[in-house]
Amino acid sequence: MDTEKVNCLIIGSGPAGYTAAIYASRANLNPVLYEGLQPGGQLTTTTEVENFPGYPDGISGFQMMEDMKRQALRFGTDIRSCDIVEVDFSSRPFILRTGDGKEISAKTVIVATGATAKYLGLPSEEKFKGQGVSACATCDGFFYRKKDVAVVGGGDTACEEAAYLAGLCNRVYMIVRRNVLRASKAMQDRVLNAGNIEILWEHRTKELLGDESGVTGALLTDKHGEDHLIDIHGFFLAIGHHPNSEIFRKYLETDELGYIITKGKTTATNVPGVFAAGDVQDPRYRQGITAAASGCMAARDAEAFFN
Ligand code: NDP
Repeated sequence: MDTEKVNCLIIGSGPAGYTAAIYASRANLNPVLYEGLQPGGQLTTTTEVENFPGYPDGISGFQMMEDMKRQALRFGTDIRSCDIVEVDFSSRPFILRTGDGKEISAKTVIVATGATAKYLGLPSEEKFKGQGVSACATCDGFFYRKKDVAVVGGGDTACEEAAYLAGLCNRVYMIVRRNVLRASKAMQDRVLNAGNIEILWEHRTKELLGDESGVTGALLTDKHGEDHLIDIHGFFLAIGHHPNSEIFRKYLETDELGYIITKGKTTATNVPGVFAAGDVQDPRYRQGITAAASGCMAARDAEAFFN
């Protein structure tokens, strides 16, 4: 099999991957970017992005990713709509195999494969994605100002999102499947002390209700098996994220949840020449702007690696 030689291989096409591509192209690293299975990444599932500086009137997540892609292409990034399915980081240059059966030998690799929000798996949840169903309160909470919304989950993210939404919305229900919160004490206190957050302990979501305007309610079941209907317009999932790091875990150090560990304030991993950017290494901030920033850092780190 012919092995293609690449200077800088970028895996992933969210804000981290595209920003890395823009910087790496402009630094003459001749990057090749593999888009992966969800071209554009998580932002393409958001309707409107209003918190990315530079877009005073907001922009759709899909359009924003198209613009970033165009910008990367303008500087010569070789973008391929395929996935990387296997890596060997045991020696340099690194060997990577693509979904269409090619083998690539890369001097540097930037992993920007993101994270995937977990959903409950209800058909109605799928139907109303982007129309009331969201996995990011910071991104979408603003659209539900003064309305009633619900957050599912009882961890730190759920509490943080509920507290954030409580500042914008009329009433926030927290749908918690057990009779305790998993979140840290400080985060629990924020939720318990907010006047407009109501915790529905030991409740599960059965179905979402809605019409052409989007979500209008949720049907819940309590521990006795009784159904309850709540009227809501926003339904926020906060039941965890899954970092897309599986194929790298044999070589790259991750935390217990699978997030790739980077060194200090850099994007360097434990393997010299492999860098990680965006949500695959960030369980905390998970914003388009922070992912883009770390994509820039990864390209700069890759550039420095050659010097
Ligand atoms: P976690 O895994 O900590 O919590 C997930 C929550 O969702 C749990 O309450 C869990 O319930 C619930 N859940 C999971 N699956 C379902 C389901 N199918 N139906 C209903 N509920 C479900 O995820 P987080 O995103 O909250 O946090 C991830 C990591 O990031 C943690 O280590 C957290 O501490 C950290 N973090 C820290 C922050 C901070 O310090 N400010 C902010 C955000 C995250 P159960 O408890 O019953 O399992």
